[in-house]
Amino acid sequence: MDQRYDPHEIEARWQAVWRQRDAYRTPDTSDRPTFYCLDFFPYPSGDGLSVGHCRNYVPTDAISRFYRMRGRNVLHPMGWDAFGLPAENYALKMGVHPRVSTESNIATYKRQMDMIGLGFDWSREISSIDPDYYKWTQWFFLLMYERGLAYRATGQQWWCPSCKTILANEQVEQGRCWRCGTEVTRKDLEQWYFRITEYAQRLLDDLDAIDWPESIKLMQTNWIGRSEGAEVEFALPDRDDTLTVFTTRPDTLFGATYMVLAPEHPLVDELTTDEHRATVVAYQDQVRRESEIERLSIEKEKGGVFIGAVAVNPVNDERIPIWISDYVLMGYGTGAIMAVPAHDERDFQFATQFGLPIVEVIAPQSGAQGTLSEAYVGDGVMVNSGEFDGLAAPGQAFAAIVDWLSERGLARPKVNFKLRDWLISRQRYWGVPIPIVYCEKCGIVPVPEAQLPVLLPDLDDFQPADDGQSPLARAPGFVAVACPKCGLPGRRETDTMDTFVCSSWYHFRYPSPRFPMAAFDRRAVDYWLPVDMYVGGAEHAVMHLLYARFFCKVLFDAGKVGFAEPYATLRNQGMIQAEDGQKMSKSKGNVVTPDSVVEKYGADSLRLYELFIAPFEQSVAWNDRGVQGCVRFLARYFTLATEVAAAAAGLPAAEGTADVSDSGRVLLRLLHKTIRKVSGDMEEFRFNTAVAALMEAQNEMLDAWAGRREALKPAQWREVLRTFTLLLAPMTPHVAEEVWERLGGEGSVLDATWPGWDESLAADEVVTVVVQVNGKLRDRVEVPVGAEKEAVLTAAREMNNTQRFLEGKQIVNEIYVPEKLVNFVVK
Ligand SMILES: [Zn+2]
Ligand SMILES: [Zn+2]
Repeated sequence: MDQRYDPHEIEARWQAVWRQRDAYRTPDTSDRPTFYCLDFFPYPSGDGLSVGHCRNYVPTDAISRFYRMRGRNVLHPMGWDAFGLPAENYALKMGVHPRVSTESNIATYKRQMDMIGLGFDWSREISSIDPDYYKWTQWFFLLMYERGLAYRATGQQWWCPSCKTILANEQVEQGRCWRCGTEVTRKDLEQWYFRITEYAQRLLDDLDAIDWPESIKLMQTNWIGRSEGAEVEFALPDRDDTLTVFTTRPDTLFGATYMVLAPEHPLVDELTTDEHRATVVAYQDQVRRESEIERLSIEKEKGGVFIGAVAVNPVNDERIPIWISDYVLMGYGTGAIMAVPAHDERDFQFATQFGLPIVEVIAPQSGAQGTLSEAYVGDGVMVNSGEFDGLAAPGQAFAAIVDWLSERGLARPKVNFKLRDWLISRQRYWGVPIPIVYCEKCGIVPVPEAQLPVLLPDLDDFQPADDGQSPLARAPGFVAVACPKCGLPGRRETDTMDTFVCSSWYHFRYPSPRFPMAAFDRRAVDYWLPVDMYVGGAEHAVMHLLYARFFCKVLFDAGKVGFAEPYATLRNQGMIQAEDGQKMSKSKGNVVTPDSVVEKYGADSLRLYELFIAPFEQSVAWNDRGVQGCVRFLARYFTLATEVAAAAAGLPAAEGTADVSDSGRVLLRLLHKTIRKVSGDMEEFRFNTAVAALMEAQNEMLDAWAGRREALKPAQWREVLRTFTLLLAPMTPHVAEEVWERLGGEGSVLDATWPGWDESLAADEVVTVVVQVNGKLRDRVEVPVGAEKEAVLTAAREMNNTQRFLEGKQIVNEIYVPEKLVNFVVK
């Protein structure tokens, strides 16, 4: 038999066998408990997979195999999030239809995934651009609409002038488009929204029930941005209406010395006096040209103008001036703030700049300061606050002020959320058409479920336009349609949906991927979901991961599923950088592809290195020498196993371990400790230390095979190697399958049972050391074989009886005979 490790030959052979056996087919039902392992829905980019992507897929493949060997029915499917801007932009660049380029990119991904031995059940493959899939994406839209969670509204929205589409709030990062980095502008268009804000509190509360990284939970918590405060009414003299502000610090109301409105606040024009109109209009024009980034910049000096009007502070009836300033934005709160310069840094800066009064109303415990050189933002007691003086603030003061105002109808407690509704309309071609028809007689008419899918027409010209109109608006055959309600000529909605809608529900589809009657077969979803293990990059913390949770809750409320959280456990893999520590990117030419690694070293070595490279969550630089180390490890394993197979050829199975020699027992202890270690590490996503344990164990085995081969009988050696092979199988399935066969293992290693360990065999062996004080036996202590001297002495000193005889004495000498005796000489 060939004893040279030839990964290419082994991998090609077993991949063909598995394909022919349909080895990765997942049964729809089984007596086994389920394990649903899912990767984030990938977008098949034109660049194909890099070794960075493999950092996601290899570990999930390994744990899927691990749980399969542990007796679970494992679902680990794969599919494609194939609509969206990047796909469309790529197609525009290549001058082909996005369907053509997307399909070719998918083929590349599949080829690469098969090449590295990922065990996907391709019969369950789904693609978001398939009408059989997006029919149900449209169905979800209708469900939202039916439940009052989809609505159409006009507002100032984020527009990316480069992508030529409106974006969701989550897709604007510090004033820039998350896709292309272009500064966003505002555009007024009528758009579709999903009312995710209705679920803000539940999205927050249910974070406690899921096993997700704390960092992701924190990002969602901050994004949802719950704050408790009060809405306070400021009267406007000689008018019936009031100005409402939201404040989290009602206890500082006596210090509110002026108000600031967003320049675009609807009341500004009415309230501005003729005397101030010219300066106000000029300032509004100036602000209109500012970007959001400029407006929120901390460095920038705040601008602002007085509009000539005043409002009445409800706690003391003081008339305070109303200003407008760019630092107050219409999209947040009510677009109006009460300014408390003594206790807010930004207000302090503004008041100082424009000579507005600063009134101290919260004093630190040390007493009122009189004149402030900066805002005091700490806790304290109320001062200059009339009958409220002396109350602890914000503690008692908060409730006292709100109660007092509430009784007079001037305030009410209010919980505010930063979260905005999800804007889902996109003015781009490559997406799911929104299933809505506009009729002059009936208004907005949802397309009936029986008429789904609303097919995306094949367009030759799908260039985005500057005017906020989707390319679908230029397709007359698409736009003109009979109203589903009255039959009169109607007009289709021409915007498409944000692709995050497609990925908000895909995990429901895999259990019944071809189900024709609904988005999913309820029985299949009940059997498989929630997803047990969800794995992907941390960058989707407040987009995909928030939207998918929202969708699940809507389904739950609609009685369509029995759980409200889709992903029970989430793990984020670290990134892989180029060898020089830089981010891998096509433009830098430093991308390492799995193709080049597999061609040089084979898929199993790539897989092993991906697992071994660093703790799973940690980002790390690629190092080709690391892969070479993995090749050497597998080559030695292969040779050892082949030699053992030859030595044990024709022998019956080993019978127990009762008659094993002492050096044989050392090997068995090592093996059982390794089983225990690798089992625990796999469960806890500590792949790197699992691989390290296997490498250590193999070194010991190689030493023993070279020097103390007789420590075990050949059939026992074969048992040891079989067990070792099972431990390797989830990580390096090809070479494991080959060795399993050579060692005469039963069936495929994929279906073998994960080995258990014998706790007594795995236990560290201990020896009893006698403890003497001045040569007299005083105690005995059990220590592990090979324990360090200091550890034994410490243990000996801490024994109760020893302590009695050491008390009040000075130790002048410590005598230690390893694994036998400790003698403390005292005086
Ligand atoms: Zn953009
Ligand atoms: Zn109609």
